[in-house]
Amino acid sequence: MHKSLRQFAAITTRIVLATISLTTLVLLSLPALAVETSVKKLAPGVYHFRYGFHSNLFIVTDEGVIATDPLSPDAAKACLAEIRKITDKPVRYVIYSHDHTDHIAGGGVYEGQAKFVAHRNAFELIKARGIDEIIAPDLLVDNRHTLELGGKTVQLVHFGRIESASGLALYLPEDKILMWVDAVRSFGAPYRYLEGYDWLEFRNALQELQTWEIEILIPGHGPPTDKSRLVLFANYLQHMQTAAEKEMAAYTQARHSSIIGRVNPERYFDTYISEIARRVIEKMRPQYGDIGGYDDWGTKNAERAVVFLLHEILFFD
Ligand SMILES: [Zn+2]
Repeated sequence: MHKSLRQFAAITTRIVLATISLTTLVLLSLPALAVETSVKKLAPGVYHFRYGFHSNLFIVTDEGVIATDPLSPDAAKACLAEIRKITDKPVRYVIYSHDHTDHIAGGGVYEGQAKFVAHRNAFELIKARGIDEIIAPDLLVDNRHTLELGGKTVQLVHFGRIESASGLALYLPEDKILMWVDAVRSFGAPYRYLEGYDWLEFRNALQELQTWEIEILIPGHGPPTDKSRLVLFANYLQHMQTAAEKEMAAYTQARHSSIIGRVNPERYFDTYISEIARRVIEKMRPQYGDIGGYDDWGTKNAERAVVFLLHEILFFD
C-alpha cells in the first residue's frame, strides 16, 4: 500500500473507533426512555389506557374488571397498576383484539385470575407464532358474542379479515364506544396496501358500522377518535373503487398493451396497475388530497383497489 494511503487508512480507522466509542458513551449515558402512559375515563367504569404508541380499554365493574390487549409485559404491568388505583376487584377477562404480537404480548400479569378471550381464528395463529409472552386464549368466540359482567355489556364482533383473520371489535352499546384495533386509523390514509384485509369485508364492515350508534372510537394507536373516521374511510374506499372502475373502463388493458408494446406479463400488469392508480389518485385529489400521506399510502390504497378489481371481478369475467 502507498504510504499516504496507509496513513489515510490509519487516520480513518482512528476516526471510526473514536466515533464508535463516542456513540457508545452517549448511548450509555442516556436514561432509559420512559414510555408515555396515560389513563382517561371515557364513560362510567370505562377507561382508555395509552402506553406510548399503543392503547387499550379496560372496564371496571362491581364484579370485576374486563381488560383488553395487554400490549407488552411492561405495558400490562403499567396497566394493571392503573387498574389497581381504581379497584381491587379481580381482572375476570382479557380480550384480544387480534393475534398480532405488539397488541397481545404480556398477559402473564393477569394469569390465574382472568379468562383470555379471542376470536376462534386467533388460537392457531397465536400457537404458530410460538411466543412465550403471549398467553393462549382459553375462551374462543364465534363471529358475534356477548359478554356480560357487573351490569356492563360488551359485544364482540368479527367482521371478517380486517388487519388479521382473527380481528374482534368490542362494542359497548350503553356507552356507544367501539374499540376496533388497527382497522381505522385516527389520522392519515388507510394502511398501505391494506395488507391483511379483505377489501370487500372491510368495506362491508365500514358500511354496517355507520348504522351503529358510536360516539367514541378506539383505534389502538393514537388518541380516541369518533365515528367521522368510519364515515371518512367508508366514503374514501367507495370513491376509490368507483374511480378505479371508471379509469379501467376508460383506459383498458388492450389499450395499455398497444401503447407499451410486447413486454413480459409482470411488467405489463405492474405498469397497468400503477397507471390506473395514478389516474385514480389525481381524480380524487380535490376531495381527499389533504388526508395525511395521500401521495404515499393513498397511491398504495388505489393500487390495492385496482388489484381487487382485476382479480376479484374483471379478471375472471
Ligand atoms: Zn397495531
